[in-house]
Amino acid sequence: MLAPYALRTEDSRGRRHPEPAHAYRDAFQRDRDRVIHCRAFRRLENKTQVFTRRLSDHFRNRLTHTIEVAQISRTIAAELGLNVDLVETLALVHDIGHPPFGHAGEKALDAAMRTHGKSFDHNLHALRIVEYFEQRYAAFRGLNLTFEVREGIIKHSRDYSAQEYPHLTEYLLDQRPPLEAQLIDLTDEIAYNTADLDDGLESGILTLKQVADGVPVFARFYREAEKQYPQAIEKLKFNEALKRMLDRLAGDLIANTRARVADAGVKSVEDVRRAPARLAAFSDAVEKERRECKQFLYDNLYYSPDLKRDKEQSETIIREMFDHWMAHPEKLPASHRELVGTSSLPRVVCDYIAGMTDTFILEQHRQAFGKTAFSAER
Ligand code: MG
Repeated sequence: MLAPYALRTEDSRGRRHPEPAHAYRDAFQRDRDRVIHCRAFRRLENKTQVFTRRLSDHFRNRLTHTIEVAQISRTIAAELGLNVDLVETLALVHDIGHPPFGHAGEKALDAAMRTHGKSFDHNLHALRIVEYFEQRYAAFRGLNLTFEVREGIIKHSRDYSAQEYPHLTEYLLDQRPPLEAQLIDLTDEIAYNTADLDDGLESGILTLKQVADGVPVFARFYREAEKQYPQAIEKLKFNEALKRMLDRLAGDLIANTRARVADAGVKSVEDVRRAPARLAAFSDAVEKERRECKQFLYDNLYYSPDLKRDKEQSETIIREMFDHWMAHPEKLPASHRELVGTSSLPRVVCDYIAGMTDTFILEQHRQAFGKTAFSAER
């Protein structure tokens, strides 16, 4: 039961290399399966989301975060009558371009590239992974994903101008992406804003009082939970409040997006594409709450002294390994070394590092510099 503004599989612009239809899986279902079976997807398990393994092995990593985004996205997409298979594919692939060590790793890799007049962007890297680096099929290089999945990889979180990115013009840069892609950035926010409060509390870096003082929407739901379950232990009331917060974010995104679509008189994917602004959005009130929560996480968790050491070590490792391979390209594996010439050396080194898991780059660093960077102890 798809809404008129949903993207129907039969309306897909198709793949770069045409393939015969599958007997019982449509194009977006096949794309989802290709993503799940690719190597870059499996590596997410060993990439930091916010917390390195030093703190706990049951906190979210990039894979479990990705699964949570997919779960939230599917629920919201189904309720809006969108193409759930396309949404799920885009959610599963949304973080595939992230380098090791989370945001710190991305920042350090970008900084290293900027000293060579270049840059690193995880969305652009994700596109290179699915187009080029994944080699699974005899008939073509990359995963040969449909246009809509590749477009969503590029456009799920920001807009790219044709002027600045002429090689991306095939992705209709002057148009909005379909609602299926528009959802992902917002479901990503829902997932990590709530999950990071959870892991933040569990890690002991955040206290309940801090969260209640700094995140008004949480405080409201916590008071509700206290009234309803006065005997429950604190952590369970915390969970209850967090669950209600997630529900409010998801419910608001559904209701507000539906209202915006109706107000804009949108009746087709083409209308979504031509709308002057993205239509998937939270209401003003919930958007304000979301921003408060995010700011709280930056101030109290992401930039907390407890995570600072990991962050600084991550940045050092990325920088040292980048400089190491720039100075010794002969130490790159043959498969990467032979790309120098087709790509510049900084890009080849950057691509190599971006594909690594935390564990792999730590081992590379130990081999090159003979020291263990992260202590296993708290
Ligand atoms: Mg994410």
